[in-house]
Amino acid sequence: MKYQQLKNYVDGRFVPSEGKPLDVYSPLSGEVISEVPLSTASEVDTAVTAAKEAFKEWSGWTIKERVQVFYRYRALLEENKDAIGSLIREENGKTSSEAVAEIEKSMEVAEFACSLPQLVGGETLEVSRGVQCQEERYPLGVVSSITPFNFPVMVPNWTIPITLALGNTMILKPSEQVPFGANKIAELLAGSGLPPGVFNVVHGDRAVVEAICDHPTIRAVSFVGSTRVAEAVYVRVTSQHKRALCMGGAKNHLIVLPDADPAMTAEDVVASFTGCAGQRCMAAATVVAVGEVDHIIEQISLEAQKVVPGENLGAIISKQAQERIEHMIADAIDGGAQPLVDGRQVVVAGKPNGYYLGPTILDHVQPEMEIAQAEVFGPVLTIIRVADFEEAMSLEAASPYGNAAAIYTSSGGWARKFSQRASAGMIGINIGVPVPREPFSFGGWHRSRFGVGDITGRSSVDFWTRLKKTTTKWSAEAGVDWMS
Ligand code: NAD
Repeated sequence: MKYQQLKNYVDGRFVPSEGKPLDVYSPLSGEVISEVPLSTASEVDTAVTAAKEAFKEWSGWTIKERVQVFYRYRALLEENKDAIGSLIREENGKTSSEAVAEIEKSMEVAEFACSLPQLVGGETLEVSRGVQCQEERYPLGVVSSITPFNFPVMVPNWTIPITLALGNTMILKPSEQVPFGANKIAELLAGSGLPPGVFNVVHGDRAVVEAICDHPTIRAVSFVGSTRVAEAVYVRVTSQHKRALCMGGAKNHLIVLPDADPAMTAEDVVASFTGCAGQRCMAAATVVAVGEVDHIIEQISLEAQKVVPGENLGAIISKQAQERIEHMIADAIDGGAQPLVDGRQVVVAGKPNGYYLGPTILDHVQPEMEIAQAEVFGPVLTIIRVADFEEAMSLEAASPYGNAAAIYTSSGGWARKFSQRASAGMIGINIGVPVPREPFSFGGWHRSRFGVGDITGRSSVDFWTRLKKTTTKWSAEAGVDWMS
């Protein structure tokens, strides 16, 4: 094995777990590169005890003091971009530039966290003569983040800098498929001067997630992953009267109108459905082709053929995921979908056991087919033909998900109508991956998000804090009149 077994990170130290080991594969080669422990509920409890103890001191630092850690953290992320990038590539299978982009986005969240002293000052108002009311934000205590495989460093960093800068302490449970990123984050945070116990990592699977949900000291849980698990975690945590914000899966519709710029649309749609091998909750899933757009579809197919597995297209996370996607493609073709580009059977030179799938485009897909309804999470684009804008909007609205939706058009009128009517939280106008950048917040609608508010940006501040309102009056000299 290339790397020794992963350890948990508790109270400022890497500690071995007593849990059963699970093999960690590199999707690039299909080889086992390490083992991750499936930690136990009692190990979660030990980490929570450390985080609870650390909270006493950390929450007493001023926010201006706390953000100094994240200025340093941002600098360390930048300094270590290439080294961490190659680790992400190895554990997740994405391309080097996609891996580095994760770190750049993490730096952007750290920058936002550093701006929090300017955003969370609270308000003071003289509410009656001589009587002041003041509103202040307080941290919650020990909180937790549970994260998916597709962004081993970026998704943990959606929450870490913000929630810690706001004074909370944290337990991170990363995906057991990509456990390295979390330990690197722990090293960088320690190097940035974060006190022991403020940030902890407990590796594992469902048992660790359930122990986190049920732990009485953990006050809030954020989750990013599939809709099935997001909903289960949300119900479990909130039924215990605790806060939860759970981001789920997606099925993003891109509406293409006949007046769209063919070259720009083709490039953008292909980048959206093949980036990170389609394993992004913001990836294009379905092009809704409105009216006569064959000339654009043709360009999309040509553009897709420039995307080569093992070069500018990364790997699928696991053998099981690859087989699941290939079955979905086969079923769709059996059901009448027409393959314009078929990425099955690709071989990457020197990587015979890597999990690769080339870009795949299926035209004339029917809305009721499984491939049109379920999240595929691979480099697969389905095309559904519709007669007009209204039919396209009905199709988009019928999706149970609501993460992102986009339109390609050169008409400002259609673009505006689309952004008003689309039933998703993140809208693109001629942009296929409409990720809002800080200080705007990230979050979908419907079954792509359970809970209130978004997971990054300004909106996340409410989730990670609670308000305290203090009303003050002094003596008669101040001319106090409580009800005036
Ligand atoms: P997943 O739901 O399988 O796993 C996510 C986390 O939940 C992991 O830490 C995993 O260990 C844990 N987990 C898995 N099964 C569990 C169970 N039965 N009970 C409790 N915990 C469990 O998701 P994934 O495959 O790692 O990630 C891909 C999914 O994440 C896709 O659906 C994608 O759309 C979604 N995602 C959503 C967003 C968003 O912001 N909406 C962002 C990234 C990824």
